[in-house]
Amino acid sequence: MKLAGRVSQVTPSITLAIAAKAKAMKADGIDVCSFSAGEPDFDTPAHIKAAAQTALESGKTKYGPAAGEPKLREAIANKLKTDNGLDYKPENVIVTNGGKHSLFNLMLALIDAGDEVIIPAPYWLSYPEMVTLAGGTSVIVTTNASTGYKITPEMLRKAITPKTKLFVLNSPSNPTGMVYSPEEIKALAEVIVEADIFVVSDEIYEKILYDGAKHLTIGSLGEKIFAKTIISNGFAKAYSMTGWRIGYLAGPAELIKATITIQSHSTSNVCTFAQYGAIAALESSQDCVQEMLQAFTKRRKVMLEALNSIPGLSCSKPDGAFYLFPDISKTGLKSLDFSSALLEEHQVAVIPGVAFGADKNIRLSYATDMETIQKGMERLEKFVKARI
Ligand code: GLU
Repeated sequence: MKLAGRVSQVTPSITLAIAAKAKAMKADGIDVCSFSAGEPDFDTPAHIKAAAQTALESGKTKYGPAAGEPKLREAIANKLKTDNGLDYKPENVIVTNGGKHSLFNLMLALIDAGDEVIIPAPYWLSYPEMVTLAGGTSVIVTTNASTGYKITPEMLRKAITPKTKLFVLNSPSNPTGMVYSPEEIKALAEVIVEADIFVVSDEIYEKILYDGAKHLTIGSLGEKIFAKTIISNGFAKAYSMTGWRIGYLAGPAELIKATITIQSHSTSNVCTFAQYGAIAALESSQDCVQEMLQAFTKRRKVMLEALNSIPGLSCSKPDGAFYLFPDISKTGLKSLDFSSALLEEHQVAVIPGVAFGADKNIRLSYATDMETIQKGMERLEKFVKARI
């Protein structure tokens, strides 16, 4: 069959593929320790489920506006004002089928053939693929541990050309967990305004911060940068709602209107009654977020200490998200060989760094229970010891 050319330009998502493989192995009775997809192990908080159930029972089962339920768009605009200091109205917001879909809508609405999108590496693996599917060109700027895996203003400035349309900023970062400081965000904002390009700020991990780290939304730094900023966020990570598929994009009204047009011909509205769960998530107590954060804090400590005690591995301490990104180069293995052998020999699932543009690393998610972390770290130690 002759498929469309765009199909051969992209590869399936490795995070989803490895997570599915680990789940299938578990279903077959194999004792797998999975640190693959970034998916909190907690159930969705009861009050969020109850709100969706009530909506379901009261007949919120019909088509809704493609842009999202008006009440949810309003709740998101309020959240962006209160939490992030951004002055958006409901018409600046579109509700999407998850954070991934927000970004996909954005690429389709903003990127033309020939446009360049600057993406710092290590990056979340779907960014470049979305740019490709939209017909654009990714300009990858490689960072390393020496700058804390962050792009500097100088590096950004150097990557900008007359074709640059968009810069992708992700803090806290997937896969490294690093968080840009307010000063670093300010310095990047200056470059963006000066070059008159757009920035999409992927803030899906904004609530998952440790050791007093602060999240500063780039668009809150003044009118000029606000006009160039698009926010991508969602409910999956903070409220353990991965399977609900609810995200949102906020930005200039003209751009959001374009994404609504695109969405009206693709997915239409997000599952109507699920959106009522999202309203409850935003408008109820945020204690559930804090409880999950406390658990992540303990797990991060245990996993980080375990990784750094394994001779041959080294891992910097990230301030956010729920990933660790150790350097495995001393083992002499490439990340894909490392991950495949680790899964094969010790039934431990991790994501090879090559998927994120960093072949010297692997990514481990600690959004899983402590027992799995302890068992998995023992297995990892045996695996590495046998190789160095
Ligand atoms: N974003 C999560 C991860 O990186 C979920 C899987 C995916 O969509 O890539 O693990």
